[in-house]
Amino acid sequence: MRQRIDLEALCAERGLRITDQRKVIARVLSDSDDHPDVEKVHERAVAIDSRISIATVYRTVRLFEEAGILDRHDFGDGRARYEASPEAHHDHLIDVETGKVVEFVDPELEALQKVIAEKLGYRLVDHRMELYGVALNREK
Ligand SMILES: [Zn+2]
Repeated sequence: MRQRIDLEALCAERGLRITDQRKVIARVLSDSDDHPDVEKVHERAVAIDSRISIATVYRTVRLFEEAGILDRHDFGDGRARYEASPEAHHDHLIDVETGKVVEFVDPELEALQKVIAEKLGYRLVDHRMELYGVALNREK
């Protein structure tokens, strides 16, 4: 479902200076489809280049975020989690037990949100939808 977003190429497009360490972090983020937090990104980056510090990861994700190529999410546990800004919109369902994030798009839901906004006198320009759930096959 998910298309890989090449953050390194987007950096180049936007004229961001890309150091070797930023390149590694960009690649880690591009290759991650699980919405990792900074610690996870650091763990994966260090596996490629052991000199990368957590401070560098923090700085780099902020830089990417400010450049508009990385999305930050708060899925309710107080940890910021990241994903390369997707080309096409999607929403998230978060497994409250495991923290697993499931992406979905539902045309009916998209349409309904527009209708709600219009009823309230607004034209919808953006939204965020987060569903929190427990896996049915784990409930006893
Ligand atoms: Zn997502």
